Amino acid sequence: MKSEKRVLSLAMVITALVATLIFSLISCAKRKYPFISGTSQLMGTEVNITIYPQNVEEDYDHYYQTALGAIEEVSTVASAYNEESELYQLNLSAGNESGYTVSYLLSDLLIKAREVYLLTDGAFDPSVAPLVSAYGFDYHPKTGEASQPYMPTQNEIDALLPLVDFGRVLLDEESGVVFLPKDMRLDLGAIAKGYAADLACSRVSYSVKGMMVDIGGDIAIYGERPDGEPWVVAIADPREPEKTFVELAITKNCGIATSGDYERYFEMDGVRYGHIIDPDTGFPAQWMVSVTVIAPNATMADGLATAIFVLGVEKGLFLINGLPDVSAIIYTEEDGRLIAHYSQNAKDFISKEK
Ligand code: AMP
Ligand code: MG
Repeated sequence: MKSEKRVLSLAMVITALVATLIFSLISCAKRKYPFISGTSQLMGTEVNITIYPQNVEEDYDHYYQTALGAIEEVSTVASAYNEESELYQLNLSAGNESGYTVSYLLSDLLIKAREVYLLTDGAFDPSVAPLVSAYGFDYHPKTGEASQPYMPTQNEIDALLPLVDFGRVLLDEESGVVFLPKDMRLDLGAIAKGYAADLACSRVSYSVKGMMVDIGGDIAIYGERPDGEPWVVAIADPREPEKTFVELAITKNCGIATSGDYERYFEMDGVRYGHIIDPDTGFPAQWMVSVTVIAPNATMADGLATAIFVLGVEKGLFLINGLPDVSAIIYTEEDGRLIAHYSQNAKDFISKEK
């Protein structure tokens, strides 16, 4: 346990150094509304943080560093395919009768994952990890290299399906001891980015007027812009992800997350197989192009976006319309044309459409 902690802290220092070297930071102290904004590479994606300080006289660079540090911490703890992460160690403990004691952060993340699992009737299920690996959507635990895509046979899928059942994972919230059934593995990739964005906001929110944390399109928004304008969030065009498709105008604390079929996929016989797996069938969820969820926080938005991708338009919108303060915008494709589906009130957020 001690040596694992040492490895983890060494990994954190290295990640911090790399992040410090590559992030570009703009501090605009002379502007009418001073802010600090920067971009880094973390959690396998681009991270953008913008902070408007409460007190413009302060040296607010350290708020930026604190927010970035929170994201680094989640990345070090919650990566399923990095042998130095805590989640990797938890996965190695599967079948261990005395369980495995996790940190407060991982326990909190697992509790939030369980909430989304229950809310979505298991459409969001982190124990799909063995299937994620079977299709080659995982990464090498030592080098971080992406695996080769592979289409498992029905027999291979049938052999893995009994391992998919997050309801069988036991967590003693008081002691932090987690009991993972034999051969089960967890992948928190569908919720960790949203969780990291929320954590980054909560670590500094006491001293900022407003901030936005964007981790590869999973976004947490806290507070207000000093110019009184809404926060503008761009949703990517699913077929040309570098272009903006829709702009949302946000005026309250919330989280926004998008799951898309363009993020990781392979094609076989003209069919696109994406990285979101239906825990019931063991097959990649099909028929959806992108799902954007706006929720009270980014953790919930991230988990729900993945789940709605699995549930499909009808069941997905039924679930969203029954949740307070949650909206969704879904795109499907018919004959090469994108079709939009909105939950109640979702259109209220749209300020610009392509
Ligand atoms: P996201 O981009 O947030 O939708 O997360 C997608 C990632 O979550 C995938 O790359 C897998 O690692 C993992 N995943 C795939 N299917 C599921 C599922 N049904 N429930 C939870 N996590 C999943
Ligand atoms: Mg997600």
